[in-house]
Amino acid sequence: MTAYRDFYRQSIDAPDEFWGREAGRIHWQQPFQRVLAYDNPPFRQWFVGGETNLCYNAVDRHLAERADQPALIHVSSETGSERSYSYRELHAEVARFAAILQAQGVQKGDRVLIYMPMIPEAVFAMLATVRLGAIHSVVFGGFASASLATRIEDAAPKVLITADAGLRGGKVIAYKPLVDEALALAGAAAPARVIVVNRGVAEAPMMKPGRDLDYATLCRHHENDRAEVQWVESNHPSYILYTSGTTGKPKGIQRDTGGYAVALASTMEYIYGGKPGETFFCSSDIGWVVGHSYIVYAPLINGMATLVYEGLPIHPDPGIWWQLVEKYRVTVMFSAPTALRVLKKQDPAYLRRYDLSTLRALFLAGEPLDEPTASWISSELKVPVLDNYWQTETGWPMLTVCNGVEPQPTKLGSPGLPVYGYNVKLLDDATGEEVAPGEKGVIAVIPPLPPGCMSTVWGQDERFISTYFSLFSDRLVYSSFDWGVRDDDGYFTILGRTDDVINVAGHRLGTREIEEAVSGHSAIAEVAVVGVHDALKGRCRRRLPW
Ligand code: AMP
Repeated sequence: MTAYRDFYRQSIDAPDEFWGREAGRIHWQQPFQRVLAYDNPPFRQWFVGGETNLCYNAVDRHLAERADQPALIHVSSETGSERSYSYRELHAEVARFAAILQAQGVQKGDRVLIYMPMIPEAVFAMLATVRLGAIHSVVFGGFASASLATRIEDAAPKVLITADAGLRGGKVIAYKPLVDEALALAGAAAPARVIVVNRGVAEAPMMKPGRDLDYATLCRHHENDRAEVQWVESNHPSYILYTSGTTGKPKGIQRDTGGYAVALASTMEYIYGGKPGETFFCSSDIGWVVGHSYIVYAPLINGMATLVYEGLPIHPDPGIWWQLVEKYRVTVMFSAPTALRVLKKQDPAYLRRYDLSTLRALFLAGEPLDEPTASWISSELKVPVLDNYWQTETGWPMLTVCNGVEPQPTKLGSPGLPVYGYNVKLLDDATGEEVAPGEKGVIAVIPPLPPGCMSTVWGQDERFISTYFSLFSDRLVYSSFDWGVRDDDGYFTILGRTDDVINVAGHRLGTREIEEAVSGHSAIAEVAVVGVHDALKGRCRRRLPW
């Protein structure tokens, strides 16, 4: 493990050298003057003065070498549609969409809110926005109008992009009426323009004259228009992504541009092992951070084809994902433990029916990966199954095993070691001291946060500090709000949220440990543990009566 240890140490001890080298992975229109500026802790800036553009790095840059290679493969098991876009076609779609946005007055720094199902236009919209140096805010398509309204109020977008409907398990969810409700609730913050992609799966949406514009009509109108790339300084915001947390108004996690592109590009080599020309399949949704980073930006920045999937993992049958892996020769797959637990309940014959020999690894993130699920899927796929621990705030993994630096063992139930760039510590929440192996502590990062992590809370710098850096009064430490424990080899295990502890008669129990014990039973596929009030013990665990 010395190779990884040395690599990691350099990232922490000599960040200028380390990240200065990594920055060469992306295109800079203007070189940066400083790798890191940390004059105003905990705020920091990466690649100061450098000019770049996320869309250029994800799309235009590949035209010289891979214009005819697939860039975006869209499959909807809901509508039965399947379509592949080459880099040349993706470029044309994105540059035209950017011209459409420009014609609606969108400029550098303006916000564009995207409330879309998993259709190609959602990805075009994201890339078109950053092409102009505008800032996207993607809101998960399943959110209700009230949640959408609070995000509109906070981001005050100039344009909102939506569709007639999304589909889930054959059920049509009309989006446009939800958008109309949200706009009414948002009042003055409502955008002047709403662009509607009419897929024709719901009743024709009501279009408000003067405000609502039909995307297909705009495409005809701007058929030959292409917007140029707007170069932005590395620390210019690329997007806002809201995270609800457990209390208060949703926080707009603000991401930079250059640092994010560099960090994502590096992960493709060091963590995921994806190569240009191959297909990456991330089954998340573009509404989540995993979707932003690993459906859209990282695979494209790396010249891969990204597989964008609309539908359930068990529809039209539980073999659908494996069928896609075979058909599109997927080499790297990224999903969530819940999806795998759903698949674990199905007949294994569906998985064994397909040739999965192209697949080199499966990555899982977003929630604890329980041992039974991890062992089941790794024995079925016969490829490494790697757990990634990270957060909307970080944008890319914080704990995992970086096999691209040095192959290392995995341990069931543990995401692994601190990822390069993250000075991760396990701290006692009362004393602030580092805890010993085997003892529980808060997972914290000593700032500066590495490139690509959140820059601030949108419009609320004070909240960035008071939320994330106020664990201790005498120093600035980033709190993940997760409990963890470390073994003698430095491998971490996540024990659950610090605000999600069940206190039974003074014993603080993590939800994760209890969930894992229950899910160890072979008849159980999914489990969630919640505390129930108990007059005597404070909280108790009680079996619910169903
Ligand atoms: P989000 O910001 O919505 O992506 O949620 C991030 C939170 O999900 C983390 O703070 C953890 O509580 C949890 N989480 C993410 N990845 C993992 C993982 N690999 N193992 C355990 N918990 C995880």
